[in-house]
Amino acid sequence: MTLSDDMILVTGCTGFIAKHIVLKLIETGGRVRGTLRDPARADEIHRLLDAAGLPRNRFEAVVANLERDEGWREAARGCRFVLHTASPFPAAQPRDKFALVPPARDGAVRALSAAREAGAQRVVMTSSVAAIFYGHGRDRARLFTERDVSDVGSPNISPYAVSKTEAEKAAWDTLAGSSTELVTINPSLVFGPLLDAQLGTSASILRMMMNGRFPVLLDIGFGIVDVRDVAAAHVAALQVPEARGRRFIVSGGELSLLQISEILAREFPDLARRLPRRTFPSWPIEMAARVSRRARMLAAELGAPKRLDAGPAEVVLGLRFHTPEEAVRALGESLLRFDLVKR
Ligand code: NDP
Repeated sequence: MTLSDDMILVTGCTGFIAKHIVLKLIETGGRVRGTLRDPARADEIHRLLDAAGLPRNRFEAVVANLERDEGWREAARGCRFVLHTASPFPAAQPRDKFALVPPARDGAVRALSAAREAGAQRVVMTSSVAAIFYGHGRDRARLFTERDVSDVGSPNISPYAVSKTEAEKAAWDTLAGSSTELVTINPSLVFGPLLDAQLGTSASILRMMMNGRFPVLLDIGFGIVDVRDVAAAHVAALQVPEARGRRFIVSGGELSLLQISEILAREFPDLARRLPRRTFPSWPIEMAARVSRRARMLAAELGAPKRLDAGPAEVVLGLRFHTPEEAVRALGESLLRFDLVKR
């Protein structure tokens, strides 16, 4: 697939996932305008382009903040496609359940309204499985699909998941009835190679584990997807006509925290002493869940990982997922390469 000389807006271009998307778009022949909050960080993208042997003049940076109106209209002007990846993904959950909604939801409305006004053909939005599988009980046999939506009224849902669910709903509403098409990509936890030493929240989980910060593990597991596949999904979703109006779960498979630790110990034997080998019993968390909202959120996730249907992403977007083991290994290697984990 090649993109012609089209201008493509990528919001939040300094993010972990977005950097992979920007490089892939330019490799595929596109021109990218990236929004960022700190203009000095445009250099991070320039350095990546140089390292990949790609021309700097295929990228331009503009300043826009999800919490402000300024800049969005100019950012979207002349863009045929918009990839909306920006959204807060903090390492620690805020206390207020709705704290992340204003930047996530109102920011999505700002970016997508600008795309619609600019007459963009298609928007691809980075949503999350967090907008799909929360608040539906603990039936671990259930297979979650693109038809499922998280219940923001659930007492077990995290502020991050509330923000992703509200942002995605607002995105569908903003583009309803307009000629600008919408596709959402809903990744599970994203691992895989880092392009530079900037860590996103998902990569920092593995870093903490490799630095010996978890003496024991919770009995929790997740879907995991490689960032290279997430980037490929976004680029395919721009171009595949049948993707229009659909939500695509992207996930290469599920692993428990203990399995992740075992993979790291096997791949990086010199770190094995630091890596946890035991899981913490679940009953104290279940007890604490009676009185604490944070414990309730954790308790709802204990046990086998939720099952995710990533089949449509393979069939419609033509993805072939890396295995979760490959994604763990690639992230572990980059954390060592960028000195974010000391041997
Ligand atoms: P990063 O934290 O690396 O990227 C988040 C991006 O959002 C950054 O570019 C950040 O800008 C931008 N952003 C945050 N708040 C604002 C704001 N107020 N105004 C403008 N920009 C803002 O995380 P990821 O790359 O991992 O996440 C990218 C997207 O993918 C997010 O939408 C996230 O919810 C989603 N996602 C991530 C998953 C994962 O496991 N990593 C899983 C599923 C979905 P700045 O660089 O200035 O901080």
